[in-house]
Amino acid sequence: VYHQAKFINSAPNLKHAPPDHGLEVAFAGRSNAGKSSALNTLTRQNALARISKTPGRTQMLNFFEITEGQRFVDLPGYGFATAPLAAIQQWRKAIEDYLNRRKSLCGIVLVMDVRHPLAEFDWQMLQWCEHAQLPAHILLTKADKLSFGAAKNALLEVQKELSGAPIPLSVQLFSSLKKNGVDEAHAALDRLFAR
Ligand code: GDP
Repeated sequence: VYHQAKFINSAPNLKHAPPDHGLEVAFAGRSNAGKSSALNTLTRQNALARISKTPGRTQMLNFFEITEGQRFVDLPGYGFATAPLAAIQQWRKAIEDYLNRRKSLCGIVLVMDVRHPLAEFDWQMLQWCEHAQLPAHILLTKADKLSFGAAKNALLEVQKELSGAPIPLSVQLFSSLKKNGVDEAHAALDRLFAR
């Protein structure tokens, strides 16, 4: 069903979000982690992420409908370290509000570059998930950039770091370039939506 995704709207804050019914899975990640490419790959659509990358929309919550009552939300990427403090605070508030208040939110997909996993933002995101009691699935993407062995090691390392986390967590390797890990990611999405 994931290839049926259609753009609904971009919202600067929760007030402009679609009605809070049904179930939503939110995608988060540092900018350049490969979140847009992963969304494209998982939905088999190139238009989706282009929408999220439209200037003016990168700092918004971008909503997509999968089927009636099931949505993806592309959360604004983190990665404007040089942005004015006010902009960072606004970003933080938009994400925190969304995570804390959105009733239909049932899980998070956290996208990380397999070569730079568990950066400060990623830990922050996992803390927010814990606070909101949300399950998370981690995509270690760009796995094609590492050898098979190195990618496997990175996966084991992240799994080890996160063992004992107080929320349901799963981790996998992914490549948008090679389309590796798509079935596993779809199964993880099914699990998040089934909760
Ligand atoms: P976003 O900012 O997190 O949405 O990241 P993008 O999806 O725009 O990807 C950032 C850069 O990484 C782009 O140049 C992509 O082509 C590249 N990229 C994304 N996913 C992959 C992948 O799986 N493999 C490789 N080799 N490059 C990727």
